[in-house]
Amino acid sequence: MIPNYTTYDSENIFAKILRGEIPCNKVYEDDHALAFHDINPQAPVHVLVIPKGAYISMMDFTAEAPAELITGFFRAVGHVARDLGLEDAGYRMLANAGADAHQEVPHLHIHLFGGRKLGPMLM
Ligand code: 5GP
Repeated sequence: MIPNYTTYDSENIFAKILRGEIPCNKVYEDDHALAFHDINPQAPVHVLVIPKGAYISMMDFTAEAPAELITGFFRAVGHVARDLGLEDAGYRMLANAGADAHQEVPHLHIHLFGGRKLGPMLM
């Protein structure tokens, strides 16, 4: 069962990826964000974009992160979508938050899906 995290767990898998302790298949990195391919892709393109910082979800990110980081993170998401050539055909962004939404990794991440025609929104 997935718990609802209230404090940031610095041993979560994405924190380890950010620290370079475990590898990832990186597609983009700047001062604010890191993007890498999902280990279990659900579409031909399935990339995760994560902010650099200790944020569990969009809630603590938007409440606590410096404005520059918030802006930089969303710029990075757009940059990655363009870099991967998703702009023309279209793509989906998704961020799970908390147990009911099945957020497995307690570090904020946006999933970017593309590379094929996507079905209706997943439930
Ligand atoms: P969530 O359910 O938290 O929104 O999604 C977590 C995502 O992280 C899942 O799609 C899962 O496949 C991916 N993931 C979990 N562990 C790893 C890992 O070690 N490396 C990479 N690249 N992706 C991972």
